[in-house]
Amino acid sequence: MPVSRQCKSLWYYFYSDFFQKLMTHLPQASQLIDRFGRTVNYLRVSITDRCDFRCLYCMAEDMVFLPRGQILSLEEIHFISQAFVELGVSKIRITGGEPLVRNGALGLLQQLGQLSGLDELVITTNGSQLASMAADIKAAGVKRINISLDTLDADKFKQLTRTGDLAQVLKGIDAAIAADFQRIKINAVILKNRNHQEVGDLVQFAVDKAIDISFIEEMPLGVVDQHNRAEAYYPSHLIKQDLQQRFDLVAIADKTGGPSDYCQVVGSQTRVGFISPHSANFCSSCNRVRLTAEGRLLLCLGNEDSVDLKAVVRQYPNDMARLKQAIIEAMQIKPERHYFDLNEQPIIMRHMNATGG
Ligand code: SAM
Ligand code: SF4
Repeated sequence: MPVSRQCKSLWYYFYSDFFQKLMTHLPQASQLIDRFGRTVNYLRVSITDRCDFRCLYCMAEDMVFLPRGQILSLEEIHFISQAFVELGVSKIRITGGEPLVRNGALGLLQQLGQLSGLDELVITTNGSQLASMAADIKAAGVKRINISLDTLDADKFKQLTRTGDLAQVLKGIDAAIAADFQRIKINAVILKNRNHQEVGDLVQFAVDKAIDISFIEEMPLGVVDQHNRAEAYYPSHLIKQDLQQRFDLVAIADKTGGPSDYCQVVGSQTRVGFISPHSANFCSSCNRVRLTAEGRLLLCLGNEDSVDLKAVVRQYPNDMARLKQAIIEAMQIKPERHYFDLNEQPIIMRHMNATGG
């Protein structure tokens, strides 16, 4: 072969190999686009509806949980997650219920951590199991972790969670810090006259630990006893006002692609987020869908529109093409927005634990 042709083919092989490698590492554009032109690139998965706590804004005291056979197996969760990633989803959040009380949760995280094309594997937990699991979760490839903490008062913690132990959760937070996650964020649901007086102390806690914190307005999902949601409503702007008495806050751009408005506490590493489903609707930029513990693909937290993916994977096991088609078609029923009314009985009867909050 003449030298020039030989060189040409060597260059060809070099470049095609180079570009192929480059393409597998570049974020893939999501194929999931809804009727309103929103791209879905984020999946939240509730891997169990069960939990060791009974937070009073999340659950009723006597909850009936799903029978085992009705929830997705870990293999089914992995298969469905793989389909989403192949369709261009780049971020998966594992949640629940309490995800870390499900047997095999760590193995699932390890497997998901190896999905090629998944940029971010993250988790939301109540922290009760973190003291023993944080290091393994980090090793599985989980980069960022959200830990729920609504109060620093042990008695109030018991009242709010009904069964939780504050000391155990604080140990869990320290274990997460020691495990050196890229980002740790506290989630606090704020209820008037229950914990609204503590927002400053919670931010100080986050500043002292050099972690982030987000405050969440309570959402009317499922019927709960023991408090009136309208009376307990404490909007984000009041939280911000309270914090400004004690901290210097500057607004910063949200780099996480989520619904939070963020401020930085000046002179610290701590960002404070405000998630305001009532006072500042964020639906126009929604990029997420949720997989419930029983395998329903929920297109919106505040609406019941869904597609039964468990039926698809059980009727056609290992049929990736059919599953992907069902997911693509589901985008057509993603609602434009949620409408929450705290003064009405909830129109959404499912509780947050079944939803993948
Ligand atoms: N068990 C884990 C935890 O508590 O972090 C993960 C599941 S929990 C349902 C996810 C998040 O939803 C938590 O931060 C919790 O505080 C929040 N949450 C639960 N019920 C809520 C509600 N009715 N309104 C707003 N946030 C809620
Ligand atoms: Fe459990 Fe999380 Fe719901 Fe609390 S918020 S009851 S920890 S699922």
